[in-house]
Amino acid sequence: MNSRKRLLIVDDNKSIHEDIKKILAINLVNLEIDKFEELLFDEKKETKTSSIDFVIDDAYQGEEALQKVEDAFKESFPYSLIFMDVRMPPGIDGIKTIHRIWDQHPNIEMVICTAYSDYSWDEIMEKFGFTDQLLFIKKPFDAISLKQITYSLTTKWEIGQKNKEYMAYLESEVEKRTAELKKLLEYMRILKEKAEESDRLKSSFLSNMSHEIRSPMTAILGFSSLLEETDLSKEKKSQFISYINNSGLNLLQIINDIIDISKIEAQQLKLYMSACQLNLILLELKDVFEQQIALSKKNIQLILKNDVFENKLKIYTDPLRLKQVFFNLVDNAIKFTSKGSIELGYAIENELIIFYVKDTGIGISNDKKDIIFERFGQADDLFFKNAKGTGLGLAISKNLIEVMGGHIWLESELNVGTTFYFSLPYQLISEDIIIEPKIVSPNSESSLNNKRILIAEDEEINFVYFNELFSLKKIQSDWVKNGQEALDKLSSENNYDLVLMDIKMPVMDGVEAMQKIKQLHRKTPPIIAQTAFALIEEKENYLALGFDDYISKPINIDELFILLHKWLSPSY
Ligand code: ADP
Repeated sequence: MNSRKRLLIVDDNKSIHEDIKKILAINLVNLEIDKFEELLFDEKKETKTSSIDFVIDDAYQGEEALQKVEDAFKESFPYSLIFMDVRMPPGIDGIKTIHRIWDQHPNIEMVICTAYSDYSWDEIMEKFGFTDQLLFIKKPFDAISLKQITYSLTTKWEIGQKNKEYMAYLESEVEKRTAELKKLLEYMRILKEKAEESDRLKSSFLSNMSHEIRSPMTAILGFSSLLEETDLSKEKKSQFISYINNSGLNLLQIINDIIDISKIEAQQLKLYMSACQLNLILLELKDVFEQQIALSKKNIQLILKNDVFENKLKIYTDPLRLKQVFFNLVDNAIKFTSKGSIELGYAIENELIIFYVKDTGIGISNDKKDIIFERFGQADDLFFKNAKGTGLGLAISKNLIEVMGGHIWLESELNVGTTFYFSLPYQLISEDIIIEPKIVSPNSESSLNNKRILIAEDEEINFVYFNELFSLKKIQSDWVKNGQEALDKLSSENNYDLVLMDIKMPVMDGVEAMQKIKQLHRKTPPIIAQTAFALIEEKENYLALGFDDYISKPINIDELFILLHKWLSPSY
């Protein structure tokens, strides 16, 4: 703030201006003397007024005063004190002038200078209401009181200004803090809502999951006990078996989803990236999609755009996980579409390949577009009652795509349809590193005739299953219940062509048994680990431990025979 104070003298009488200036100038003269004494005696003189320095302006009429007050305000050097005459003909009188000044600038201190009392104190107070900003001084002026009044009032004005500024600062601080608090409250509210939503989703997940697991279990248990009925027709039997089979697959899918989501949460999801030919990956899915659509008995057409299955584009990806994403999107598209089409295609943009799966289904409302990517998030609880699902598929897909360096999003219109897009980084890959899977027909089993397989398996039911399956294909199989028995059997008989070794077994587990067998015998048949399907990374460990190969449990028959051909057919 300017340390100088600005004063205005408003009087139609010029000599009053000079009188006031002269009185106030005495002080300036004193200040000069003080400075001189300081120089002479080299000692600092304490003067209370030394910091006050006045700029004094003149106005001779009320209107002129009003103008000067405005100008000073615009110059950011406002008046702190005005000496105001009362009668200033022909213009407005001092009282009116003060009124109008205070309308705009209520903080200016006023001293009314009057030769005789035009208005009494009471009259004036009545006009202005009670105020401490107004003083009377009678002409002729007493120099000391005029000076004192000037210093006190300008200091009072200054304190008032500082106070005002401080208040403004406090207000802005309070505003700032209030805004911060509001933000914090909003953040807390969102957190609270999220926590409540997550609780709600978790409990609805539990009840959904319990329903999801119990339904196929009920079908498996129910239809398998019905199979025991002796007088069932052949058609009925095969119908029941297909129910059991489908329910088993559903159950497996749910278990895989739960394991995947747990791995994602534990940040243990690993990808197995390799150079792949896109159409080979998609080719495998095409049959599955067509079969799914046929099974759904819905009037849905599968449309494949941009030769998605013919183009030999190569990408670097985890083929299993890519299939999983496609599978999930198409599965949902079928689930949520009653008629129309499901279209698959892709576009290439810069370094990205953007796939899409477009359906003509029920659509997803705007407010649900984010929720469905969250774990257990489903767009419509009511719809869920009619459609199967855990609410995990999209959460898993989103995570898989992001780990592979891509993005997933959607466009949708209610009752028109939904398009899911996902992008993946796309690199051109040279031909020589393409690993194309060899397709072996599972039906060419003649080369497997009379082969002997040792099955190390503690669960009798699993052995019975293998035994039934192998005898259909004329393969001989023997059963041992644990690793120790496998070791003993291979020491006493050396004509096995292959060993299927379970990992978890009592007495001696599969890993220890395999290692001991390999230590004891220079030449052993291939030893294949049977591993839990979901734990893909463990499979790699088994190879590192010394197994020749691995097969996922539950066993997929096609995979099993591809594996048997690989190890047992000389032509492979
Ligand atoms: P699930 O299908 O097992 O419920 P997802 O995570 O795969 O779990 O999907 C979450 C939800 O997203 C679904 O329950 C459904 O409400 C909605 N959704 C997904 N795909 C579609 C689609 N193509 N059309 C309409 N709604 C969909």
